[in-house]
Amino acid sequence: MATDLAKFAKDNGVKYFMISFTDLFGGQRAKLVPASAIADMQEDGAGFAGFATWLDLTPAHPDMLAVPDPEAVIILPWNKEIAWVPGNCVMEDEPVAQAPRNVLRRLIDEAAAEGMHVKTGIEAEFFLLTPDGGQISDAFDTAAKPCYDQQAFMRRLDVIREISDYMLELGWNPYQNDHEDANGQWEMNWEFDDALNTADKHSFFKFMVKTVAEKHGYRATFMPKPIEGLTGNGCHAHISVWDAPGAASKTNVFAGAGEGQTGEVGLSERGKHFLGGIMKHASALAAITNPTVNSYKRINAPRTMSGATWAPNTVTWTGNNRTHMVRVPGPGRFELRLPDGATNPYLLQAVIIAAGLSGIRTQADPGKRHDIDMYAEGHKVRGAPKLPLNMLDALRAYDRDKDLKAAMGDEFSAAYLKMKHEEWNSYVSHFSQWEKDNTLDI
Ligand SMILES: [Mg+2]
Repeated sequence: MATDLAKFAKDNGVKYFMISFTDLFGGQRAKLVPASAIADMQEDGAGFAGFATWLDLTPAHPDMLAVPDPEAVIILPWNKEIAWVPGNCVMEDEPVAQAPRNVLRRLIDEAAAEGMHVKTGIEAEFFLLTPDGGQISDAFDTAAKPCYDQQAFMRRLDVIREISDYMLELGWNPYQNDHEDANGQWEMNWEFDDALNTADKHSFFKFMVKTVAEKHGYRATFMPKPIEGLTGNGCHAHISVWDAPGAASKTNVFAGAGEGQTGEVGLSERGKHFLGGIMKHASALAAITNPTVNSYKRINAPRTMSGATWAPNTVTWTGNNRTHMVRVPGPGRFELRLPDGATNPYLLQAVIIAAGLSGIRTQADPGKRHDIDMYAEGHKVRGAPKLPLNMLDALRAYDRDKDLKAAMGDEFSAAYLKMKHEEWNSYVSHFSQWEKDNTLDI
């Protein structure tokens, strides 16, 4: 853990730093700063014109400064003279309230003030495509059920092994890698961690996967549904809450036999209410966990070629069963299966904490557990809300959810809704072939 980046550079032979921040749409932006200039930059931050990125700022705003967080610095395993360091955005000495890493840090502090420290693990699935993004990179990867395909794995071992080696080197404790359920799709898992660390690692993972894929002549994508008819890219989040952060955590405050159906699957009363908050705010939080037009081609999708979408369509929870929005695979944690590969790493963690805290404060009830195959018997469930059908429905649900909007921060919520509505308007003003195919002769 570094505190003085200039010393860190000297000790580790680092010649440059990439000072990075993430905008509202999840874009990662960086400046490359020579180690000789890092001492000043650590104090003052690297300057950016916020309007040039996906933030709700104008060309007239003053410089936005990304002040590097030295505790989060990572030396690029593929280029050890360069270190990546996420920054916290500041403008005129005030934190930029809409900046995603600031939104998350504020919510982490709020949870900590109530004795709760959220830890999460994420499963960031991705595809390896041809460089133009048009096709799966492996023309022989055509099996109807390609999940865990050993032979297809060998044909991309060079890419997956290299990324896994880097995660081992970084001390992330990776523990498994597999060919996922779609042709051309992969999943790599590493150990869960405090929410901010997971968000930084999630960001860096996307950067690393794309970089290594490009080096090998492929293009990696985390797009929710890059190929019609195939399983999409999920970003499932495994959530637990502890008594203290980092290595100091001793007690999982979600673990226990609380009352009712959540108690039966090993959740404490606090775990129950946190889950209740996720259920209560699900349709609204989809605007964050499923943030693009394409996201809604993954949820609510027809059956894929492999036989299942593995994505939810209804706000339901269950025990160890992958057909629901929330699965409780074992005592003391639960898996939110809603998020997809387009989710912003920082806002994903932030919205989980915001919804969970709201659930605890209001003693929200997650409702009935449904121990059924939702893909086969979902029509039998009465009263469970359907997830939003498209991005506009999700944005409207978010806008109506006053509690969640306030918890995420009014300034952030206003900026996010404005930028995302502009994106939706751009989409609906686009003329598609579908319209001609279906309405030319009306
Ligand atoms: Mg998976």
